[in-house]
Amino acid sequence: MSEEPEQTIFGLLFETAKYIASVTIVAVILATIFGVFTPVAVPQSVVQAQADAVKAALDVAPASPTEAALEELNGPRIGVVVGHLGSDSGAVCPDDEAVTELAINTAIADSTIQQLQAMGYVVDRLEEFDTRLDGYVGEALVSIHADSCSFINDEATGFKVAGSLENQVPDLSARLVGCLSERYGRRTQMKYHSGSVTYDMTYYHAYREVAPTTPAAIIEVGFMFLDREILLTQPDLLAQGIAEGVRCYIEKEAIKQS
Ligand SMILES: [Zn+2]
Repeated sequence: MSEEPEQTIFGLLFETAKYIASVTIVAVILATIFGVFTPVAVPQSVVQAQADAVKAALDVAPASPTEAALEELNGPRIGVVVGHLGSDSGAVCPDDEAVTELAINTAIADSTIQQLQAMGYVVDRLEEFDTRLDGYVGEALVSIHADSCSFINDEATGFKVAGSLENQVPDLSARLVGCLSERYGRRTQMKYHSGSVTYDMTYYHAYREVAPTTPAAIIEVGFMFLDREILLTQPDLLAQGIAEGVRCYIEKEAIKQS
């Protein structure tokens, strides 16, 4: 007969500790062997979950890219003021009150914006007295207006362009005016209505609001009386002339700086 080993509480604890230690050592050895030699297979569901999380984070934060990063991605920034938007209707035709300057400006400006975006520019659509005009920084600002609907005389037809000549970049504004005038005239076949650039065009309020380094111009796209047909029926063509004028200016500047 052999004697049963004495079962003390300390002996039991010692045996248990030995058992746990040996199991742990085996587990560590196995984990080491398989951890090193077995490639870690990440389940597809985990990969997908991570991709979804990244996408969700990007979707939630559309405003996080800086303006500079956006410009780098999408090209130069252009401001387009929809003349009278958010303020008043502008000129109204006495013989047909449905024809307003605001409606004409809006159709042409929105088409201009689409065409500029298609050319790769970042475009800000601005109201007449938009708060964003204050200190606006961009490659160019163009305000789109149309001329009076009152019959003045047979000469009251055509377009005109004026620019901000009293800020820090009068030469840039002059080039912007030159490009807009030349391309708009060429595209629309409208004539430049010289001699009727008004005080409002020369001292346009937005010139003083934008950053002094932002060249700005205002275009009067035509007279609402004698040019009414082309203003109402061909906004996309007129917008093309404006967009091409902006591109002419940007590309000339790019050539000059390179
Ligand atoms: Zn106007």
